[in-house]
Amino acid sequence: MASWEPVIGLEIHVHLKTRTKMFCRCPVEYAAVPNSNTCPVCLAFPGALPVPNRRAIEDCVKLGLALDCAVAERAVFHRKNYFYPDNPKAYQISQYDEPLCVDGGLTVPTADGEERIGIVRAHLEEDAAKNVHVAASGRIHGATATLVDFNRCGTPLVEIVTAPDIHSADTAKRFLQLLRQTIVELDVSDAELEKGSMRFDVNVSVRPAGSDELRTRTELKNMNSFNFAAKGIEREIARQIRIYEEGGTVDQETLHFDPTNEDSPPLRSKEEAQDYRYFPEPDLVPVHTPRDVVERLRGEIGELPGTRIRRIADTLAFYDADVLVTGGLDQLWAKLVHEGVDPKEAANVLANDFAATGGNPNDVNPAEFAKLIKARPTITRDAFSRGVATSFSGSFVAGVFTEQKAVSDVAELDPVIDRILAANAGQADAYRGGKEGLLGFFVGQVMKETGGKADPRVVSERLREKLGPSTPA
Ligand code: ADP
Ligand code: ZN
Ligand code: MG
Repeated sequence: MASWEPVIGLEIHVHLKTRTKMFCRCPVEYAAVPNSNTCPVCLAFPGALPVPNRRAIEDCVKLGLALDCAVAERAVFHRKNYFYPDNPKAYQISQYDEPLCVDGGLTVPTADGEERIGIVRAHLEEDAAKNVHVAASGRIHGATATLVDFNRCGTPLVEIVTAPDIHSADTAKRFLQLLRQTIVELDVSDAELEKGSMRFDVNVSVRPAGSDELRTRTELKNMNSFNFAAKGIEREIARQIRIYEEGGTVDQETLHFDPTNEDSPPLRSKEEAQDYRYFPEPDLVPVHTPRDVVERLRGEIGELPGTRIRRIADTLAFYDADVLVTGGLDQLWAKLVHEGVDPKEAANVLANDFAATGGNPNDVNPAEFAKLIKARPTITRDAFSRGVATSFSGSFVAGVFTEQKAVSDVAELDPVIDRILAANAGQADAYRGGKEGLLGFFVGQVMKETGGKADPRVVSERLREKLGPSTPA
């Protein structure tokens, strides 16, 4: 059987964090009263004229520079014509053959090197309004009515298009996570998936391994999570391979990805560029970006996350470095290490315990947090978790938690351990018979019995001694 290579290209939209919309002065605000942030321009009253938002142009340039793009000396806005209730002008102002930023790339570090994913373009456009389907599911299917909220209409968007350079669902996911962190650090967008300020469409095809043809692709829309995207890509790759192996052909279509449904039903057949009747926007002049502005913006870009992952991977395992940086935790990690915390321990606490709290790493006092982490082996589990959960509040003092010492006194622990071993004789025999994993069960029982106060390291040491070797029959 032939082996197949997946080919994936991504189209990403991010809302810029500007104060006002792309072509009018209406505020950009998430979850405002519906239709309160509107004016004649974004509602498309006849005769209203657009004025481009300088800040949006600069943000797009900055993002393009971080993606190693060339910034066009001259960029042009085009009208992309289509009719839909969320689009009051019946066209979207977008960019077509003269986009603001072109020909870049983002280098994604991997466990055994790096992969550069080409960026075809990063251009500016405006978002559409939001259709609100009145139905329990929030989806158009089965809705009794559809309302339109024009607040989002005209929000500045950057569209980023990658080359079809991605060859696995995992690389696609890692690319998206790195891109998101890059955007957040540039401070041009919140890039919050849940709020829709970062959305992506995934184009997928497969080809015989070793060939460089580009076969018919399908597009998955409705991606609002990195894991769903990876899952949708895996599923689509498998579907296309099955079709080819059965002698069929793949149709070019847009599929609606629903993570709760095994299928991705077709949404509509893909429009071609000519269907949009693109033409230059007659109400706007071309955008000229002076070289000194480009250089000023370039100067505002700090060390990018991809570079930091590679640097930190010299100290930590690649996976840990990746999780810290894409989680926005590496700056705090470096401070904790500076305070004398073991690098691996600091990474574990941040990636596992701290990340789960949803706390902002910038709000943490590293010196106090370091004290808590260093005291971890001697304090109760509960005190440690409560400490972590408080670490990002202004009033956090490690001492409150580091005083709650764990019970490591063998004389106190032994009777509890003996009682639990006696009550679970069957499990103890199974352990001795080779089921070594049961040690965790016993530690858990002792922790429960002591109300989380026992020192788990001492407990497992004592358990090992008392149980004797675990040897398979
Ligand atoms: P369109 O103009 O129809 O949107 P583009 O050429 O702009 O098409 O490509 C859209 C996206 O699809 C890009 O991210 C590109 O990398 C990707 N893409 C193009 N051809 C393929 C293919 N054969 N397989 C997978 N992805 C593709
Ligand atoms: Zn407006
Ligand atoms: Mg396109």
